[in-house]
Amino acid sequence: MTDTGVLLTDIRKSFGNLEVIHGIDLKIAEGSFVVFVGPSGCGKSTLLRMIAGLEEVTDGEIEIKGRNVTDLDPSNRGIAMVFQSYALYPHMSVRDNLAFGLKMANTPVSEIETRVKAASAILKIDHLLDRRPGQLSGGQRQRVAIGRAIVRKPDVFLFDEPLSNLDAELRVSMRIEIARLHRELGNTMIYVTHDQTEAMTLADMIVVLRDGRIEQTGSPREVYENPANAFVAGFIGSPR
Ligand code: ADP
Ligand code: MG
Repeated sequence: MTDTGVLLTDIRKSFGNLEVIHGIDLKIAEGSFVVFVGPSGCGKSTLLRMIAGLEEVTDGEIEIKGRNVTDLDPSNRGIAMVFQSYALYPHMSVRDNLAFGLKMANTPVSEIETRVKAASAILKIDHLLDRRPGQLSGGQRQRVAIGRAIVRKPDVFLFDEPLSNLDAELRVSMRIEIARLHRELGNTMIYVTHDQTEAMTLADMIVVLRDGRIEQTGSPREVYENPANAFVAGFIGSPR
């Protein structure tokens, strides 16, 4: 048992009688940036959603910071998730979008103000607080979505393909932003993508998934230079 980080033990998931995640064991070090990568349909989102508590596990255990969270609600797991679709409230200002979850949790107003201010400074969206999502660019909206996760001060950030709706140029600059965020905040981050470049540039540890199983776990360099099999080699793009 770890007392920090995230520990997955023999995680399985079935939809109906079809098993799509086949017994995942994984130890994620506290403060690391882990990327789940693999082709569409391999189970990345399902695995992330189980860690978030948005999807029940069929079998297995999830520990976060030494706590068994397997049966806890998402709000009690110390996690915050950033989705591909920004899912901002269109009728609310950026400020209110950032504050909403905290208000729901009865956080004192002064504390909400402090956290909204800090998050908007980190993400450089201070000047956008009075705008509505419809008045923002795609990149700005994604910053607000990330801001909503930051204000909750989670132990672990979960990202599900957060950049896949952005154009190529913006994807690169947001990727750099997310890397900076990880350096500044120091939290554990678990990031799902089917984009090899994102995986290689962001990760401390890459987890290559295929059909609900782990094919290989390692640093970007290990996975690139020493792929476990032809699938990993083909997917990561190394010359094996
Ligand atoms: P990825 O995020 O890697 O593209 P998913 O986790 O979304 O993959 O899906 C993994 C597998 O589980 C796929 O075969 C998908 O069709 C199936 N699946 C995902 N969600 C559901 C669901 N709610 N009901 C039935 N099957 C699902
Ligand atoms: Mg997915």
